Amino acid sequence: MTLNYLSANHNLIGSILIVDDQPANLRVLATMLKGKNYKVKKAQDGETALMAAQSNPPDLILLDVLMPKMDGYEVCQKLKSNPVTEQIPVIFISALNDVFDKIKAFEIGAVDYITKPFQEEEVLARINSQLTIQTQRKLLEKDRELLQLKQDKLKEEIRQRKEAEAILYQSRALISSILNASLDGIAALQSVRNPKTGTIEDFRCIVVNPITAQFFKLAPEDLTGKLIFKRFINKVNPDLFGYFVDVVEKGKILRKDIKYLHKKKKKWFHLIAVKLGDGFSITIRDITTRKNLELKLNKMATIDSLTKVYNRQSFDFHLAHEWSRCDRTQEPLSLILCDVDYFKLYNDFYGHQAGDNCLQKVASIMDTIVKRSSDFLARYGGEEFAIILPNTPPEGALVVANAIKEEIENANIPHEKSKVSQYITMSLGISTLIPSVNYSPDDLLKSADNALYQAKNNGRNNLFANVLESD
Ligand SMILES: [Mg+2]
Repeated sequence: MTLNYLSANHNLIGSILIVDDQPANLRVLATMLKGKNYKVKKAQDGETALMAAQSNPPDLILLDVLMPKMDGYEVCQKLKSNPVTEQIPVIFISALNDVFDKIKAFEIGAVDYITKPFQEEEVLARINSQLTIQTQRKLLEKDRELLQLKQDKLKEEIRQRKEAEAILYQSRALISSILNASLDGIAALQSVRNPKTGTIEDFRCIVVNPITAQFFKLAPEDLTGKLIFKRFINKVNPDLFGYFVDVVEKGKILRKDIKYLHKKKKKWFHLIAVKLGDGFSITIRDITTRKNLELKLNKMATIDSLTKVYNRQSFDFHLAHEWSRCDRTQEPLSLILCDVDYFKLYNDFYGHQAGDNCLQKVASIMDTIVKRSSDFLARYGGEEFAIILPNTPPEGALVVANAIKEEIENANIPHEKSKVSQYITMSLGISTLIPSVNYSPDDLLKSADNALYQAKNNGRNNLFANVLESD
């Protein structure tokens, strides 16, 4: 569609097809146009002209009117009815004595006419002006096409934007319905940094759902943009703020169970905080029911169901724990093993139910004596009890053992079949050591067991102490 050439001084240099049945005419015109640097093609009849125009459309056609077989009018009509050639400007050339119908020529689509004999300047001027018009037309067409392309692009952009807006609107609606319907607290917070040091000083609420807002006793919209997070979280647990800073600064995911007095009730919450931009998102789930059950189950797993003191399993765990603690601090660790005297005879005489009641009473008396929070009383098995006394020298263990022996005796629980008293009594074996590589917790147990054996051997209702030296 573009012109083949455009000269440096903007004279139009195009390709021209000359159609004339007279070879002499063709020659004259061709020579003249070639002299002006036009690209020239020649055709001696209408048929050839149509084929040439179709296969390689020129920028302009000079068309003779009178030709045998097919005259210029017919050639012009065919050119104008073919989409490939319809835009090519046609200038008729006619001899003065030709019967030339100018009206008809314009009607069928010619743009101009030249009469023979012609003047060179006139021909060139007319060709030049037609090519100029043609160029302008093509430029306009191109502009129009570009405009159309821009319009199409704009329409597409508008369509895409509308689509994106619809999706955005839908996802906002979805997010807001999730936030509002969620039984979990959900919030997004943004770091508030010190402008000089860049350290995080607080977090600003960006998104808060109704459940989260309840913690603050405010409506969600009243929390947005507020700086109340640090003050609030410090009341719950002063360590927490640092954890949230780590979420943002180190990208660590925070998972934590926290205890919190919510609406005057002791509640447990599970927090999950994940880095989100220069801040974090958080979900807060009320796990009070599960946590309470878990704590109860944990307690059940460590407590002896009959006597309500710790069971054997937690004794083993606790002894190992205290062993390594005293090993680190090089403090003495004492252990007391106690046995109810002649308990088999008690059971045989009073029955198992009474035996159980007796053990409950004994355990509860011992529990009142073992008072320090680090001291640990457990039912070791049957009628045997064990007491772990960390950071306790032999003298201290002896005080505790003596107190137990006396309090049990003073409880006056009748035991008709006992061979040492008319009441329930206990024998106690004590052992103390400072944990070292030479010993294991088992050695402490064996030593206490030997002491208990000694106490029984010494007539029961008695106590005996062993001290294991550290080397
Ligand atoms: Mg002719």
